[in-house]
Parts: sequence; C-alpha cells; structure tokens
Amino acid sequence: MSSADNRRIVREGRRNGGGKEKGFFQKVHSPPSPLNDSLEGEIQAFLIDEDQLHTYDDLTKVNPVTPSTVLKCLQARYSVKVFYTHAGCTLVALNPFQPIPDLYTLDVMKEYHGAPQPQEFKPHIFIVAEEAYRNVQGQLEPVNQSLVVSGESGAGKTWTSRCLMKYYATVAASSSVVKSQDTVERIERRVLDSNPIMEAFGNACTLRNNNSSRFGKYIQLQLDRCQLLVGASVQTYLLEKSRVACQLANERNFHIFYQMMKMATDEQRKEWKMPPGQCFVWLPNSEKTVEEDCFHETVEAMVHLGINTERQRQIFRILAGILQLGNVNFYSSTDESQPCNLDEQSKDFSQRAAELLCVPAEELQMCLRVRMLKAGKQSVLKPCSQAECSMRRDCLAKVIYAQLFDWLVTFINNSICADKSTWCNFIGVLDVYGFECFQINNLEQLCINYANEKLQQHFVSHYLRAQQEEYVSEGLEWSFVKYQDNQSCLDLLEGSPVSVFSLLNEESRLNRVSDAKTLRVRLEKELCDNANISWDKFSKEPHFTVAHYAGKVHYQIQGMVEKNKDPVPPELSSLLQKSDNPLLHQIFTDKETENPTTKGLSKVTVVSKFKNSLESLMKILHTTTPHYTRCIKPNPDCKPLTFKKEEVIMQLEACGIVETIHISAAGFPIRIPFQSFMQRYGLIAKHPMFKSGSVDAQAGGSDVLRRAVEKLLSVVLQHKAFDPSHNLDGQKPNSWVHCGRTKVFLTQLMLDLLEDQRKKI
Ligand code: ATP
Ligand code: MG
Repeated sequence: MSSADNRRIVREGRRNGGGKEKGFFQKVHSPPSPLNDSLEGEIQAFLIDEDQLHTYDDLTKVNPVTPSTVLKCLQARYSVKVFYTHAGCTLVALNPFQPIPDLYTLDVMKEYHGAPQPQEFKPHIFIVAEEAYRNVQGQLEPVNQSLVVSGESGAGKTWTSRCLMKYYATVAASSSVVKSQDTVERIERRVLDSNPIMEAFGNACTLRNNNSSRFGKYIQLQLDRCQLLVGASVQTYLLEKSRVACQLANERNFHIFYQMMKMATDEQRKEWKMPPGQCFVWLPNSEKTVEEDCFHETVEAMVHLGINTERQRQIFRILAGILQLGNVNFYSSTDESQPCNLDEQSKDFSQRAAELLCVPAEELQMCLRVRMLKAGKQSVLKPCSQAECSMRRDCLAKVIYAQLFDWLVTFINNSICADKSTWCNFIGVLDVYGFECFQINNLEQLCINYANEKLQQHFVSHYLRAQQEEYVSEGLEWSFVKYQDNQSCLDLLEGSPVSVFSLLNEESRLNRVSDAKTLRVRLEKELCDNANISWDKFSKEPHFTVAHYAGKVHYQIQGMVEKNKDPVPPELSSLLQKSDNPLLHQIFTDKETENPTTKGLSKVTVVSKFKNSLESLMKILHTTTPHYTRCIKPNPDCKPLTFKKEEVIMQLEACGIVETIHISAAGFPIRIPFQSFMQRYGLIAKHPMFKSGSVDAQAGGSDVLRRAVEKLLSVVLQHKAFDPSHNLDGQKPNSWVHCGRTKVFLTQLMLDLLEDQRKKI
C-alpha cells in the first residue's frame, strides 16, 4: 500500500461502517460514525470506543462532543504520533516538539497536490494548503485566500507558516527569476529566504519558545493567471523593540546579535569591536545554544535577496554599535547643574558605539546626557538625571533597531514583490502572536490581546455566525449553540466615543508627565458600564482587568502612557541623520521626510498605529476566503511527545474549538443549491425506482425544484434495497439531509450515499 493510500481513509472509513466491508482500506478505517448509529435521527450519546479514539480524523465525529471527549481523542492521536486533526472547518495542529521524518517531504507535498480529493487523505497542513490553492481559481471568479495560523507562544505557528510557504514554493514553482544588483535568483528561493532574515532579526529565545517571533507577520503569496508563484509581499506588526535594551531573566535578545557574536571571523570581530571574551550587557544567556544561531544562513539569505556586501557591512556595524551602547553606564554628578558622568569603561564603549554608528563621539555623549529645551526662540540645555540618561540610551538603541527592521522588511518587499501586472491573486499566510497573559502585562500585551480579539471576531463572524445565520435564513430548525461574542470586549478596547484606547491616547497627547493614577481614575469613571473591565480594589499598583474571550488579564497602568507616546528625543533623531553610515543616514532622513511636521517626534501613538495596521489587515481578510489552523502546544516545557491535558483544554477553549466542533457536528456541513443538486444527481432519477418521470431533473421554478429535490432524496433514503451496504432502516431524512429554501443541506454520509448512487447509474 502506498503512503497515499494510507492517507486516504476518511471517506472509506465512513463507508465501511467501521470496517464491515473487507477491502483495500480496511486497515485504516475510521470508527463507526455516530450519525450512522443514530437511526432515529437523534444524535445519541454513545460510548466512545477508547481503543479506537486515535482513528477519529475529525473531532466533529466524536460523540458526544464535549471538551473531555475531544481532549481524549487528541491525546489518543498524539500518543500514536498523529498530530493533525480536523475540527470541522478548522485544522488542529499539535506540536510534536521533535522532527517527524517523512511528514513534510517533497513526495508528501506532491501526493497531496496531485490527489483528486486531497481531503480524503489523513489530516495534514497540506490539505489546508491545497484547498486554498484550488479555491483561488474559484468557480465563477478567482477568490483570494487567507490561511490564519493561530495559537499561543511555542504552539507552532511559525513552523506551520514556513511549511505552507514551502508547499507553495514547491507546487506553484514558476521558472521566473529576479535580478537585483549582484544576484539573480529564482523567486521561490527569495520568498523562502525572507524567513531566515526576518527570524534572525525578529525572533528571540524566550521562556516559552527558543525561537519566539517577536512581531506579527502577514505574507501574501502572489500567483499569476496560471497559479504560479511570481512574488510575495510581507506586512509586519508591532516588533517588540524593547527587547533590544531589556531582556527578562533567562530570556535573550534577538537572535541576530548572538549569531554575530558566535560566528564572527577574527576580521569581523575587529571591525565590530567585539574582542573574544567581551561581555555585553544586552547579550544575556549567550552560552545557551539555540538552533537558530546560524549566521551563515542569515548572510546567505541576505545575498540571495540582493543585500550586497557593503550593505551587509553597514547593517552589522549598526548592530555592533547598538551592543556597545548597552555597556555605557551613567553616574550622577555631585553638581546637579552638570551632566551625568561616565566612567572610563563607559567612555570607551560610547566611543566605540559612536565609531560604529559613524556619529561624532562627543555629540553622542552629549545627546545621551543633556536635553535641549525650547523657550520661545531660545534653546536651553538641561542635564538629564541618571535614570533619564539610561532611558535615552535605551531609546536610541530601540529606535535604531526598529528602523533597521522596517528597512529590512521594505528591502525584502522590493526584492520579492512581483509587478502588479504579473500577478492576479494571492494566498495570505497570517502568523501572529497568540493571546498573552503574564504576571505583569503592559501595553505590548494589551495590543497583542486586542489583535487576538479582532481575529477571534473574524473567526466568529465568518464561520460560527455565518453558519447559524444561513440555517435560519434557509428555514432550518436549529438550536443555537451558545458562543461567545466578543464585541463588547472590542467596544471596551477600541469603541467610540470612549474606550481604553481613546482614554490612553488622550492621556498620551497631553503635554504633561504621565500619571498612572489619573488614567486609572478616568478608566473607572468613564468605562464603568462595560462588564468586561474590572478593578481589584485592594491592589496597590494602578491596574485594570480585561475579560478577554480567552480569559482575564490584569494590565499594569504604570508606564503605559509613556510606552504609548514612544517618544524619540529630537536630539537623537538629528544625531542619527548626521551619521556617515549611509544606511543609518538614509533610514533616519527618510523617516524625517515622511513626517516633516513632527521633527522626528512622532505624535502618532503606538496604539493608534497598531489599530490602523490591524484594521487594514482585517479589511484584507474580509475580502478573502479564510482557512483556520489552530496550533496547540501540548506541554509548557516544549518536551517531545508530552501531552498535558490541562494545558491543551485551556487552549482549545481559548480559541473556540469546542464551540466550532459543536456547530459542525450538529449541522450539515455540505450545502448545494437546488439547481446544482439536480444537475449533479438528477440522473439518479432515471433509475427504475423512480418509475416513470416522477422527478423532473430539469424542472424550473424554486418550488418545483424543491419538490423535485425532496422527492429524489426521500426515494434514495427509503430504498434500502438500492444499496444493502447502507443500512438506512427507519432513517428519517432530517437527520442526514434537509431542504432549505434555496439549497440542500447534507451530512457527509448523505453525500457519500448520493455519490455512490450516481456512480451506479
Ligand atoms: P511564538 O508565538 O513564540 O512565535 P510559534 O507558535 O511561532 O511561537 P514555533 O516557533 O512555530 O512556535 O514552534 C516552536 C517550536 O516547536 C519550533 O521551533 C519547533 O522546534 C517545534 N515545532 C513546531 N511545529 C513543529 C512540527 N510540526 N514538527 C516538529 N517540530 C515542531
Ligand atoms: Mg512564531
């Protein structure tokens, strides 16, 4: 039996009715479908055969669908190394935390791609990929697709996104090549090479994931008329730039710094002023070995994308300059009217930083320690406190790194984006940070969790709500499955006229020292009507608690307004514009021209920028057909093949999987308009069981059509003699099929039956 045959189990298993029929697929059959057993049309709770649990390919087939049965099923599958399971329209992907040989090979890709019905194969991320690929061509007109990959940190989102990209780079490979300066590369190669670069600069080792993405990413793979990959574009969201200058205990800075440290040649070390053994404050835990510390791969990818040697040199000098800055310390001067002092070591480090950033050393030291205040037309110099000096140093590092990251993304886009005239459709892959809830949560978590609320709403509106509404509009009886509508939480966060974001922005725009207590009082006073926000009266620190769809999160208010302002002192921007490093000079001059009125001090708050970019993303998502993959992290320690029930159930509930399964299981997943139905199955009416002309397959008018469909269905269902392998005794048509106002709603079993009959005619 070929591996393709091994995968082709879903439909056959159902037909076998649990393996009654001996045949080709008998070894890998599904258990009897619960629907098949409930001949009275009622879905009855039946005892799950625990030994067979691992064979359920779709969680909607587990009956009864409860968090506990779903969990058991996933656990059983995990224990036999089956990592993908359907949950209605969603694919659940359990992280194996170990390489699984033969699961993602070229041959496997080809099998899924070449299969007439890939969905008949074992659940796999390639089914989702292939479905989206085929959907692009649409039935009437091409439809753009989005693959939304979600899950908590370490669940496998980035891994999955890479897999999807590799799939398209393989099955949709075009022969087009792209030229730039020194290189000529195939486009697929370039698209894939954007990953190592973005991961080197945007990922870091955290407590929860050794390769944690510290930014969100939406990549659109551009396809031409022949469905070939001709380019791509990347949009990134909210890089966690604070990590450059501050890392939590046992966490690390972005990978690229360690790659440089570990892999540099002697010559590079000299150039970057990084003698062996030199410690850098901003490079904690460098002894830790992380798979991603692969400098050669990053450099190679840069070359493929067309970043020439000179540009690379400029980039690495900037990064080395940042590292030197981290070792600069300030000491309060005894005379308050004098700037803070630097010890000898700090002077050396600041000198080296200045050389690497190609800015005047004196001026760098001044900018970090002295603020310029404008009083009318006059400027007054005011020394900064020790804490302010450190803040300015950190701010300088963060702004340089963030701008460099943005420049890289723009460069990558210029290198891989196809000309608009050459592509007509896209498949978007969204890999964004999952819901976050730490002991201390601040503005970053607020933004991240807000993004997750938006995506959850998209999921709810697109799938759950749409499905239920369609049932109602088609006149089907439907006991509404309760699901959590998160609109009130979104109103709380972003609504108008008053919301958490509007109040935060108002406080941030006021030209005064931010005060956490003021914001706390305003939030309580102006948002007390919203049940999603609360306060712990006994807490000493000003905070607020938001009831997110995935759980309650306490946000610390201290520092939130300042983070939202994200100010860059104008002296620092002007200093960087003077840099002799052409790249640094360019990125800061461009920034200034973009926003000339603000003199480098952007008045756009972090929250409004993030909200705008997310709204554009949502607009794009709404125009596409979405496909959801929910990655699940089976244990918090990233251990291979370890399944912790409590961890998994929390994630299943947080992403609404249990509700989805409920809806899919209770419903009719297949809908066919009457006309199309009669076109496909009308010929069954030619069978002698219909006697003469009792069904007019070509009948016009919706009532006539409906009656014709009903007639056909009832005859098919009643004629058990028609096919003895389908035991339909006493079957009520309602349990397998239902006629709505304009279309037929079917279970998979009914569809199988009809297809069988059709083949026999
Ligand atoms: P974050 O939100 O922190 O970025 P993430 O969801 O993107 O997390 P990944 O980085 O994709 O998580 O996955 C974490 C690790 O899990 C990977 O580095 C890899 O070691 C392992 N992993 C994930 N998926 C698979 C898979 N399908 N097969 C083998 N290992 C996997
Ligand atoms: Mg990731």
